[in-house]
Amino acid sequence: MKTALFGGTFDPPHNGHLALCLYARELAGIERLIVSVSKNPFKGPSDASDDDRKAMAGLLTGEINAAGRFAETSGWELRQSGPSYTIDLLRHVEQRYPDDELTLLVGEDSYRQMPQWKSAPEIPKHCTIAVFGRSGGESVGTSADTPSFPAQHYDFDMPVSATEIRRLVAADHSITHLVPPSIAAYIASRGLYRA
Ligand code: ATP
Repeated sequence: MKTALFGGTFDPPHNGHLALCLYARELAGIERLIVSVSKNPFKGPSDASDDDRKAMAGLLTGEINAAGRFAETSGWELRQSGPSYTIDLLRHVEQRYPDDELTLLVGEDSYRQMPQWKSAPEIPKHCTIAVFGRSGGESVGTSADTPSFPAQHYDFDMPVSATEIRRLVAADHSITHLVPPSIAAYIASRGLYRA
């Protein structure tokens, strides 16, 4: 089976994540998707708690599956001590689904950071890397920064980020155009990201 991993801090999940996952199913032929909630060592502490991020990732998974069930949420990275690393997640998923062909889904900003990831040269030995364009990214970098990892690049243009959503909520602005309704309702009910 063609299984994809999609890791993120999901603080909160948004329409960019949702569209990327649905796009991957259609264009990359992904049959199973694991949405993994991470503790990203490149980011500061998340605003929302691990439990809230996992709950929102679960809602994202529900939205993805509304178009046909193929996604599951994983809290495995959250249960590891210290920061989480993609290479460890890949090894874990390989053990769980030994016969599957793995694809790692990343936005372009994450792909450009990949040379700094733990055991980076090992990663392409475990999976195909699928990179989704990210316009309006904060750290897009120059062509000199482009990693040499083999990757499949997909045209993708959803200018939305979790940073922007947190900023809008703190400023008491609407986010309903940027997140699925279930996640907007969760953020409001838990009072997340308010200043
Ligand atoms: P933040 O603004 O807090 O940095 P984020 O919007 O980048 O968060 P993450 O949960 O860190 O969200 O992202 C998880 C994965 O999704 C990363 O690989 C990231 O590159 C990718 N991604 C997030 N938003 C987009 C987008 N709009 N277009 C393409 N890829 C995206």
